[in-house]
Amino acid sequence: HDEQAAAKAAAATADSGAPTIFDKIINKEIPSSIVYEDEKVLAFRDINPQAPVHVLVIPKVRDGLTELAKVTKLPYLYAEARHGEILGQLLYAARIVAEKEGILDGFRVVINSGPSACQSVYHLHLHVLGGRQMNWPPG
Ligand code: C5P
Repeated sequence: HDEQAAAKAAAATADSGAPTIFDKIINKEIPSSIVYEDEKVLAFRDINPQAPVHVLVIPKVRDGLTELAKVTKLPYLYAEARHGEILGQLLYAARIVAEKEGILDGFRVVINSGPSACQSVYHLHLHVLGGRQMNWPPG
C-alpha cells in the first residue's frame, strides 16, 4: 500500500553512507523534542506518533548499521559483532526513556528493517511505543 510504496521510494534513494534527516536532528539543525541524550545516543519524540508515547532512539554515528544488501540493493539492519556495545547502549537508552515516560506497565521496542517493514529513514532507530494497549500481532 501507500506506506510501503513510500518506504520503497526512500529505500531506492538510500545508500549506506548518505546523510539522513536524523543527522540534522543530531546536529540540532532542525529542532526535536529530546527525551534522553548522551555521548553516543539520542532519543527524541517521533513527529508522527503512533501511540501516546512514541520516542525514537538512535545512535549518533551510523557506523554501517544500515547497509545495502548485495543482491537486492535494498538497505537493511546490518548488525555485526563489533556493534555489540552501541546496540546495548541503544537498549539501555530505551529503558531510560520508558522509565522517564512512565510506561513501565507495557511498552514496545521496534526496529523496522527494509522497505517491506516500512522503514523510511535509513539510519538505525528503535521505536519506543507505549501509553496505550499495544496489540499483537502488529500491522
Ligand atoms: O521505521 P521508520 O523508518 O519508518 O521510522 C521513521 C520514523 O521517523 C517515522 O516514525 C517518522 O514519523 C519519524 N520521523 C521523525 N522526524 C522526521 C522524520 C521522520 O520523527 N523529521
